[in-house]
Amino acid sequence: MQNQIFRIAIDGPAGAGKSTIARKVAKELGFVYVDTGAMYRALALFCLREKISPEDEAAVSSAITGVRITISYQDKEQKVFLGEEDVSGLIRTEEVGNTASAISAYPAVRAHLLDLQRNLAASVSVIMDGRDIGTCVLPDAEAKVFLTASSGVRAMRRYKELKEKGIMCNLQEIEQDIIERDQRDMNRAVSPLRQAEDAVLVDSSEMTVGQVVSAIVDAAIAHGLQVE
Ligand code: C5P
Repeated sequence: MQNQIFRIAIDGPAGAGKSTIARKVAKELGFVYVDTGAMYRALALFCLREKISPEDEAAVSSAITGVRITISYQDKEQKVFLGEEDVSGLIRTEEVGNTASAISAYPAVRAHLLDLQRNLAASVSVIMDGRDIGTCVLPDAEAKVFLTASSGVRAMRRYKELKEKGIMCNLQEIEQDIIERDQRDMNRAVSPLRQAEDAVLVDSSEMTVGQVVSAIVDAAIAHGLQVE
């Protein structure tokens, strides 16, 4: 019997498979999956539409102050809203991802999303993925996982994903993009991507999806999760 909420924080670099894995773990444990990258992407979409340069910190920081990002769940799938508009489908492009990576370095952008993220984990059991969940958003999470894989493996996974969707792409460019995004995420001044001291490291380079899911469920159980 679970009578208390349990929070699993899952951080890691771009393309490590966090969302695929987190979604499956959530299903297995009956948790809510919270995808924080989607919130940064929604703000990035806003900036792209308003033609605000992602390099211009002052412009981005002031433009987003009045922007309302909200989350709702339909059939256990997270939907992200920019104002009243459901933008869940529109934020999944490389352009939006790269813009999100640039603007997520700004303190005002991170502060804008922090309460939303914490509130989502306040009353239900969640598995929340991102870059700073274990270190900053939910530092008291009951279980923390740092999920990674080599840049070559991550690039190949993304390449296959895009190919399946019929999108033209180049493997080398994808790997270069992943490396640049990692550098930006790891070297920014606020909430850089790093493994929390108490996080379990899972390197999925040579693991199947099922093995990674089991490793995370086991880590949660080792940290006190009671399963029926
Ligand atoms: O995970 P996803 O690719 O959707 O995230 C888009 C970008 O948002 C990342 O490249 C990262 O720079 C940023 N992000 C972040 N902190 C989070 C989640 C995402 O900085 N918690």
